[in-house]
Amino acid sequence: MRRKKSKDNNGSREKVKRKKQIKIVDSALEVIKDEARKWKNLDLECGGSLVGLKDKGENAILYAVRTGHAEQSHCGVTTDSGFQNKMIKAIRDRYKDSKYLADWHLHPFFMPSLSDIDKRQCYELLTDENLSYLEELPIILITFKENELIVCPFIVTLNETKDGVDVEEVHLSIIKQNSRYIKKLLNAGYVDIDTIEKSLKKDEPEKDVLKEIFETGLYKTDFGKKRIEHESNEIEKLTGNAPVISVLDNNLISLNFDYNEDSFISVLPPEYPLNPATIFKKSKDSKDMENFEEVKIFHNWNSLCTVADLVKEIATENKSNKEEKYEYEIVISRIHAEF
Ligand SMILES: [Zn+2]
Repeated sequence: MRRKKSKDNNGSREKVKRKKQIKIVDSALEVIKDEARKWKNLDLECGGSLVGLKDKGENAILYAVRTGHAEQSHCGVTTDSGFQNKMIKAIRDRYKDSKYLADWHLHPFFMPSLSDIDKRQCYELLTDENLSYLEELPIILITFKENELIVCPFIVTLNETKDGVDVEEVHLSIIKQNSRYIKKLLNAGYVDIDTIEKSLKKDEPEKDVLKEIFETGLYKTDFGKKRIEHESNEIEKLTGNAPVISVLDNNLISLNFDYNEDSFISVLPPEYPLNPATIFKKSKDSKDMENFEEVKIFHNWNSLCTVADLVKEIATENKSNKEEKYEYEIVISRIHAEF
């Protein structure tokens, strides 16, 4: 005979020690998922800081900082500490009690557990004198099984084992940013991270990524600075906004921008412009809205073409027939005659 769930049952269940949990604001989780999907398609790790509060001993994550201009590879990411610290400070300026709590990161391949390197990094954070308030780390790891995004929340604490840390998988409770809970927690009200980032950019001169790439010697690339500036200007002419330029692993440079309601990531190979950029597109009306998909380009590439030309062509290709495409190629050569 099956027993009905009774009040008694519920009553006794409460006596069982509650599993640890991490609370996270929905929009912070969305930032993590958004970043993870973006970089997964390029097969690169990404990650950033988690900022929040301790609420009755539990971690409440309010913000996930985006990856920024990090050094990224298939199996590792070294975040830009300048950018991460600037964002943490901006959040703390708004919410005095908030603190750096831990990090989030992506395993673009299927690996739903922390690596030895991850554990080592946790150990270093937990034993860092400057972060002595950290008793445990609420880590958010994202991984993909096929195309399914999996969120793995862990609490990491110090112990006496070889690794020096215990990793416990815990429950993740998602809190709505406009919930009463958040209103109570934050007198100033919740403002999303992109708004905070934008307000920072207003105050400070924009970081000159190109200068960093070509003058500080931080990155080794064969790109000509003029060429990248030209690409950036052409994209700005096309879309009205300059692209976000990042340095990826293996001396790849990516230009990210929006055009006609679609988002694009173009990755320039080290031998660019001898070979074309690879273009990834996230379409507004694609079935899987979250994913960037590689766009196959049939254009006869020559080194005078730009990313903006390719993207323009992608946009026309959707509607046009062959004849129009032919006309378009003539347009391209005319544009270049001006340079
Ligand atoms: Zn990892």
